[in-house]
Amino acid sequence: MAYQTINPYNNKVLKKFENASNSELEATLATGHALYQQWRKEPATSRQATLHKVADLLREHRHTLAVTVTEEMGKLIGESEAEVDLCADIADYFADHADEFLQPTPLTTSIGDAHYEKQSLGVLVMVEPWNFPYYQIMRVFAPNFMIGNPLLLKHASNTPSSAEAFVDIVKEAGAPAGSLTNMFISYDQVAKAIADPRVAGVALTGSERGGASVAKEAGANLKKSTLELGGNDPFIVLADADMAKVKQWAPQARLSNAGQICAASKRFIVMPDKYQELLAILKEAFENVKMGDPLDPETTLAPLTSMHAKETLQKRVDAAVAAGAHVYYGNEPVDLPGAFFQPTILTNVTKDNPSYNQELFGPVATVYVVQSEAEAIALANDSSYGLGSAIFSEDVAHAEEVASQLETGMTFINRAWATLPELPFGGVKNSGYGREMYRLGFDAFVNEHLVVSA
Ligand code: NDP
Repeated sequence: MAYQTINPYNNKVLKKFENASNSELEATLATGHALYQQWRKEPATSRQATLHKVADLLREHRHTLAVTVTEEMGKLIGESEAEVDLCADIADYFADHADEFLQPTPLTTSIGDAHYEKQSLGVLVMVEPWNFPYYQIMRVFAPNFMIGNPLLLKHASNTPSSAEAFVDIVKEAGAPAGSLTNMFISYDQVAKAIADPRVAGVALTGSERGGASVAKEAGANLKKSTLELGGNDPFIVLADADMAKVKQWAPQARLSNAGQICAASKRFIVMPDKYQELLAILKEAFENVKMGDPLDPETTLAPLTSMHAKETLQKRVDAAVAAGAHVYYGNEPVDLPGAFFQPTILTNVTKDNPSYNQELFGPVATVYVVQSEAEAIALANDSSYGLGSAIFSEDVAHAEEVASQLETGMTFINRAWATLPELPFGGVKNSGYGREMYRLGFDAFVNEHLVVSA
């Protein structure tokens, strides 16, 4: 695996990184395990100030950190800055709430006084993707730092500089060695780490293929795992939708982060009366994007993360068109050197089309017209994925009833998806299992230790 920073705006190789050796991996596991043993004797509150310091440093170095991400995976500078802000908020949230989340839970039993307490588990491996290089780390780091689970990070091979920048902030905040160690390791070394008896579990965000492979290693070694995988999220426009709200949210639901968000809306499912209007909304927004240097605040659509990502998306769109999808807008070459992809709208995607059940990880929307609400729900659920969903309707109580029928981990009514520390994040079906953020994310890697006193 070649860990390197290549700017997808101009394809310049900015930095290359050496892979870690097995002895370096061993040293990381030993340091992490020793830290776990030490942390077990200390209250979580002893780490609170350090995590708040991480938040402060993120805010202090906001712009520099944002530039690192933008130059490495291409997202708009404003989006990178927002990601740094979100990370700081997540750090503060878990620093502030850990004590509450760790309070013992009393239980009622006929055999005495009982409660369970939450204990740390040990060193965890985290395998993270490039689309939110800091946020993906923070979702796992913040809760587990407070719980007392040291972390070994294997970041995506195309975001090594972001991984190093994040770890530098954690060090600067005064976290002890082993709290979060970034390693440029191979898939085999990830498997080796998972199998190590000092490692208690693994959290992965990424593709189904990566998730299945890592979960297989975890299962074979009886280790806990959480998986946050892809999505093909429906955006349902019901008959009574307020189209002003649809206009406010639909374009950004598909285009933010250049469309490379697992929980972004990808399939727009609309009632006949609203079909033409929805197409017009998307087309107008897609036509008016300004592609260019993502460091320029005037740019509104960034390149994809790499030329490889662009080629993959192009192949999928070509296959969709070859199987009968209609290009309503876009899919033209972009006359810029970087990994740019013209925003594209596909219609007439039938069930036998490969893109019907495929994640198009970029600025490509598929639009489906349905004849009834029941058909909308059935189409939304006819997917191997089940991450997020959105419903637009002026009858919120009814939309909530529709939400209950959706096989997804999250539903947003009258707005696009969002992620905040106080909201659990995750999916069902091939979108993975387990949750990150909120109390549910906090509890992902704890020992719920039962104590009964007769
Ligand atoms: P990959 O699964 O290829 O990569 C994600 C991470 O997993 C990278 O660090 C990668 O390393 C690593 N990895 C992949 N295979 C293995 C393996 N066998 N053993 C160890 N590590 C492995 O995903 P993509 O790069 O394609 O990322 C985009 C995907 O992630 C999309 O499908 C997207 O939907 C999903 N995603 C899900 C999110 C969620 O929260 N549910 C959020 C963001 C993205 P390397 O880079 O070295 O190959």
